[in-house]
Amino acid sequence: MSRDEQQKHRNKMVRKKQVVDAAIERADRDKGLLVVLTGNGKGKSSSAFGMMARALGHDMKVGVAQFIKGRSDTGEEKFFTGLGPFPAGSRHEGEPQVTWHVLGEGFTWDTQNLEADRQKAQEGWREVKKMLSDSSFDLVILDELTYPVSYKWLDVEEVLADIAARPAMQHVVITGRAALQALIDAADTVTELADKKHAFRDGIRAQKGIDL
Ligand code: ATP
Ligand code: MG
Repeated sequence: MSRDEQQKHRNKMVRKKQVVDAAIERADRDKGLLVVLTGNGKGKSSSAFGMMARALGHDMKVGVAQFIKGRSDTGEEKFFTGLGPFPAGSRHEGEPQVTWHVLGEGFTWDTQNLEADRQKAQEGWREVKKMLSDSSFDLVILDELTYPVSYKWLDVEEVLADIAARPAMQHVVITGRAALQALIDAADTVTELADKKHAFRDGIRAQKGIDL
């Protein structure tokens, strides 16, 4: 690189840093975020559980609700539910660090039992509501929530109203494919994970530690 090129590059980086610094300066508010992780690519739930690890590292109390078809023994459930109460001196001393609900167990996904599935989802939402109205929860993860909402087992208006009414500093993360536009509109941060390649299509079954 010539001296001239080096100088040009340096000037460009200085300008870039000024722009970034100004943007960082402008972002001076705090709020409980609604994060939606959607799309067909792998990494939605695992990203949510990554944020959960971050939060726990900051002494934040976390609630998880998983709306799933059938229980599979996931590593994250084993790991996070194995954590005990918050230690002495912590803001949440003595409270459980993690509250974990599996709410979809037994969804039939069969048109015959639509009403049963709807009821199960609604019972599940009552548990979620308790967490959304409890300001001791700093983070609530609603894993695979997009499905019961898309299937109308849960009323999207009610779901959004309950989320909107949560404590001001409580963060909520929703995962699942095909998030309805209403969820996306309500969110502060939305990421759509794209499926570029997945080992499953090469005949490889779900691998412990990576997929479950
Ligand atoms: P993960 O839990 O690994 O972060 P995810 O939450 O993005 O994945 P889900 O739709 O909830 O994806 O599916 C969970 C399981 O399905 C995981 O075992 C994951 O590897 C697998 N999976 C995710 N995306 C795909 C895909 N595009 N094709 C096949 N299997 C997939
Ligand atoms: Mg998932």
